[in-house]
Amino acid sequence: MLGNMQDGHLLISGLIEHAETYHTDSQIISRTVEGPIHRYTLKDAANRSRKLANALDKLGLKQGDVVGTLAWNTFRHFELYFGVSGIGCVVNTINPRLFPEQLTYIINHAENQYLFVDLSFVGLLESISHSLETVKGIIILTDKEHMPETTLQNVMCYEELIADESEEYHWPNFDENTASTLCYTSGTTGNPKGVLYSHRSTILHTWIVSSGNVAKISSSSVILPVVPMFHVNAWGIPYATAMFGAKLVLPGPLLDGASIFELIDQEKPDLLMGVPTVWLGLLQYLNETNQTLESVKTALVGGAAAPRAMIQEFEEKHNVFLMHGWGMTEMSPLGTATARTAEMDIMDVESRYDLQQRQGKTFYGVEMIITDDAGKELPKDGEAFGRLLVRGPTVVERYFKSNESALDKNGWFDTGDVAKIHPEGAMEIVDRSKDVIKSGGEWISSIDLENAAVGHPSVAEACVIGVLHKKWDERPLLLVVKVEDQDLSKEEMLVFLEDKVAKWWLPDDVIFVTELPHTATGKLLKTDLRDQYKEHLIK
Ligand code: ADP
Repeated sequence: MLGNMQDGHLLISGLIEHAETYHTDSQIISRTVEGPIHRYTLKDAANRSRKLANALDKLGLKQGDVVGTLAWNTFRHFELYFGVSGIGCVVNTINPRLFPEQLTYIINHAENQYLFVDLSFVGLLESISHSLETVKGIIILTDKEHMPETTLQNVMCYEELIADESEEYHWPNFDENTASTLCYTSGTTGNPKGVLYSHRSTILHTWIVSSGNVAKISSSSVILPVVPMFHVNAWGIPYATAMFGAKLVLPGPLLDGASIFELIDQEKPDLLMGVPTVWLGLLQYLNETNQTLESVKTALVGGAAAPRAMIQEFEEKHNVFLMHGWGMTEMSPLGTATARTAEMDIMDVESRYDLQQRQGKTFYGVEMIITDDAGKELPKDGEAFGRLLVRGPTVVERYFKSNESALDKNGWFDTGDVAKIHPEGAMEIVDRSKDVIKSGGEWISSIDLENAAVGHPSVAEACVIGVLHKKWDERPLLLVVKVEDQDLSKEEMLVFLEDKVAKWWLPDDVIFVTELPHTATGKLLKTDLRDQYKEHLIK
């Protein structure tokens, strides 16, 4: 017997309609690419999204067409999130930090019809424009006054494009399983792979990310997402802002410590979101200038493991709870978070940091297990670790344009991460399956070693890779970037690690480097380093 309730579709246009009706005056503040800080309300954003929708219709875009963005976190990018998906087109947010060949691949593979591009990326687009196969025109996200000289063809100005359009627009109704957004993984090997979200998966994810055990978003929240809108939808925050009427502070192109702090100081966010490297920059700036964070209560940190030293520094110097989150493009992206619990408030602080270092519990809607290489489920005992598999309505079923499902026969998606699950349910990432070091048949976690190494005050950044070894197959090699003007020897580094990891985990060598390579999403890029140092221990 079916229930007797109404069958409305969960659509992204419904979010912006809700926002303009019930959160009319909630503010969106953006640092613009042109420089000045821009302010307006959710009502203004809704009006301009409808003007944009009319303009998109005039460009001849039809439901299912793909429209790309190469843009920072600003109010215009926010309008594109709603205007493009709202009319039934797909917004393909493209990560400008990718290599030019990867950008070309994505734009062609997604069959982008139009590209909306920030001033910062016009030069980048000029360099690849000759190889773009489907793009009919480029809209530069600025006003007439700031339009650049460019060799690009069929160029339009965003403000002029929407200026004379009507604010009236009737958002179409369609199936909630319709595609809304397309994001590509950064693809450290091979071509990037597209994950095509639906309106339904996006709305379900918005509820998840906003919920009480995650970001707790409401109309009293002031959120500063440094996590980019060009990578996994800034963890869903633009949608959550519309759903709950939060105040949104968008950092535009300036992500250094001083610029982020300027926004924090002026706009008083209580919630920060971003990858660890961004917070390293902010914390360093605060140390150098002797300042503290006053308004911030929570920093949601994910995308890479948050080191214990960072959890500690946020807490002890700034009274900020570091909520560790884990996820991936294939999961919309959020998979787990470490919610603060009543017990955490009364336990000793070191035990609390132990819990915060874990990636946390999943939420209703995402299932999670670990298995061995043969596919046998492993116990959730905090000891066993294996491949982390996930399942649920916000998890990918297949990659864009693939004929094959990305799932196993039981519907599980293999995340490519190796993890433990503790008896109380918290997941702890041990490593990426391709980064874990296989020494004499046992596994060593490169992440645990890196986290231990960055606990040394003279270490700015650390990277551990597995390199060939005659007896043990692979052994860990530690690469360290020192804090400027600090002295540190290999022996001191190893002594420091001795009581932090098992003896047989200690790196076989320590190499000091001036910088480490990162992927387009801020993660350590280990593939090249592995090639470079492969024979370091057997030479
Ligand atoms: P990419 O950068 O490859 O496009 P994602 O942002 O989707 O992609 O990266 C997802 C991966 O990032 C995860 O599978 C995991 O390895 C890593 N990751 C994300 N959050 C964390 C975290 N909190 N701790 C450790 N690793 C993390």
